Amino acid sequence: MSLTDLHPSRRAFVGGGAAAVLAPSLGIAPLPVHAAAPLQGTQVAAWYRFRIGEFEATVVSDGPLPLGDPSTYFLGSSKDDLARLLTDNFLPGSLTIEQNALVLNTGRQLILFDTGTGLGSAFGPNTGRLLANLMAAGIDPAQIDAIILTHAHPDHCWAIMGEVGKPNFPNAQVHLSKADFDFWTDEGKLSAGGPIKDFVAGTRKHLLPVRDRLAFVADGREVVPGVVALSAPGHTVGHTTYVITSDDRSLLVTGDVAHHPVLLLQKPQLQFAFDTDPKQAVETRLRILDMAAKDRLPVLSYHFPFPGLGHVAKAGEGYVFHPAPLQMVL
Ligand SMILES: [Zn+2]
Repeated sequence: MSLTDLHPSRRAFVGGGAAAVLAPSLGIAPLPVHAAAPLQGTQVAAWYRFRIGEFEATVVSDGPLPLGDPSTYFLGSSKDDLARLLTDNFLPGSLTIEQNALVLNTGRQLILFDTGTGLGSAFGPNTGRLLANLMAAGIDPAQIDAIILTHAHPDHCWAIMGEVGKPNFPNAQVHLSKADFDFWTDEGKLSAGGPIKDFVAGTRKHLLPVRDRLAFVADGREVVPGVVALSAPGHTVGHTTYVITSDDRSLLVTGDVAHHPVLLLQKPQLQFAFDTDPKQAVETRLRILDMAAKDRLPVLSYHFPFPGLGHVAKAGEGYVFHPAPLQMVL
């Protein structure tokens, strides 16, 4: 027996409804329909809460970011090889990546790691959902004490300011590396070509208005109590990961060390199109993934399937991502 023996044809489903089609093949009379329910067409708010020791953490989505053709973004492999990797992992050929921001409540401070793209950006109608999802999770943006950025790319910091020139998080200090601040607000790059010019122009609109509330992070130093910066340059010049620790529990916030759980873990040597220094990005990816695997350190990956929590393990020439089981009761 095969799947086609069990399945009525798709055309029969569309034409007559499941009950009417299934019934003759099972030898029973068609069931009458008493209550016709309309399709809902909506999804749950995208947030997920968990604990790190004494801390309470909430992954809040900014919405999916459509990339499309993987060969445009993942460089160093043939189009066919990328397609085969995706097919072998039951993934569609056209890529969409997630945006998993993190809110950490340490009991002393409420901290947001990365902000998403903001509204009105050029990343499609499904992005810019962070504020709505924060509210759905019971988090008031005015309660955020600190924003900690992994780097200053559009999908990580373009929600600092709102549409009308007011900060979305009016009480937050903004932490990032000085290298990224200097690079992505550099006036000299406004005359550069390609995406860098647009990135810099946009990022200036979000970082310069909060210039007096910026604080720079440094490798190996505590950013706020319970959060230590770990420099991870390459994707951007000052790209930074963060280790959150409470009691004997830790979480590594990996930012954009890897953009895809299959393509960049199975093939960590591939380059990503928006890496500022692709060679350094590969070295950093290998170093950080090795550390996470060896230390069995839980990770939160910004662009992995929501909520992006899990572990990394060594597998052959690369790595494999093991998503953490969701806990339905906190
Ligand atoms: Zn990103």
